[in-house]
Amino acid sequence: MRVLVVGAGVTGLTCAVVAAERGHHVDVLARDLPQETTSAVAAACWYPYLAYPAERVLGWARRSYEVFTELASYASTGADGQPGVAVRTVRELTPEPAADPWWRGAVPSLQRLDVVPDGYTDGWTFAAPVAHMPRYLTYLERRLADAGATVTRMALATLPPGADAVVNASGLGSRLLSDDGSTTPVRGQVLRLPPIEGVDDVLLADRVDTVTYVVPRGDDVVVGGTSEAGVWDLGARAVDTEAILARASALVPALRGAPVLGVRVGLRPARPSVRLEVERRDGASPVVHCYGHGGAGVTLSWGCAEEVADLLDAL
Ligand SMILES: Cc1cc2nc3c(=O)[nH]c(=O)nc-3n(C[C@H](O)[C@H](O)[C@H](O)COP(=O)(O)OP(=O)(O)OC[C@H]3O[C@@H](n4cnc5c(N)ncnc54)[C@H](O)[C@@H]3O)c2cc1C
Repeated sequence: MRVLVVGAGVTGLTCAVVAAERGHHVDVLARDLPQETTSAVAAACWYPYLAYPAERVLGWARRSYEVFTELASYASTGADGQPGVAVRTVRELTPEPAADPWWRGAVPSLQRLDVVPDGYTDGWTFAAPVAHMPRYLTYLERRLADAGATVTRMALATLPPGADAVVNASGLGSRLLSDDGSTTPVRGQVLRLPPIEGVDDVLLADRVDTVTYVVPRGDDVVVGGTSEAGVWDLGARAVDTEAILARASALVPALRGAPVLGVRVGLRPARPSVRLEVERRDGASPVVHCYGHGGAGVTLSWGCAEEVADLLDAL
């Protein structure tokens, strides 16, 4: 089957990889190439954040956890073309006493923390895959090329009519391409610091009005963040940088004084629920929609891509 995938972020590339490796003839069309997408900005730790509904997200997250864990094992083999994925220990802190998280069933184990820093009352630790997105997207592109698929820059005004099927993985672009105003931006700003001795674990700290995270990736540390619903501003803000550094350094003092190597902003494609379904169109090929992954596009990518491929196989 000839499949056109619209979008070259983590969703589009993963859908394209799975479909191409199942034998479909796949071409990806995208306004922004992989390194220019929101996906390239992601931290990117496995964590189901701002994505709904819980039951479907849990299944996609669990499956993606399995695949990422397998990809992480390649690093220890020293094989070429490594995916840039590693499994790290994550410590999550909550301001109020909390029951086990709703996604507990997606991770093999989770332990409660006995001691938490001032200002927090509860927390847990678990192991989770972390992807170095610039490297990981390159890995997906290479895997795609090996399966005979192409990636072409093309800004579309509508979903393309040709091919046997179209996969719509355009994230926020679905506001235009499928006339879906329920997909909205949630602005996130992150900083990149050099590697810091002793900072090997991921830290996630939630508050009512802020999210703070520290994600070491081997050759750098990503520190965040912001989560502003409905904000389209892609410019980095100095005031956010200062606030992020202050919050993160209070929790991880080793970050103090580290130089900021770069600041990036991305717009998470939020939606009341991830749209993953087939739409039949009069006089045009069917569309499998796969967008609206909020703050969890990486976390859900493999589970969603396999479901998209199942829907393509069944057309
Ligand atoms: C600061 C930050 C930190 C994050 N951290 C994490 C994390 O730790 N873990 C995690 O799982 N997720 C994280 N996320 C969320 C994650 O980045 C997104 O959920 C994910 O990138 C969505 O991927 P996507 O491929 O659906 O969309 P995108 O990456 O936005 O890609 C959309 C693609 O569609 C194309 N497109 C759109 N419109 C058109 C058009 N008209 N014509 C042609 N092409 C079009 C775009 O050019 C692009 O190629 C984070 C996000 C941010 C901003």
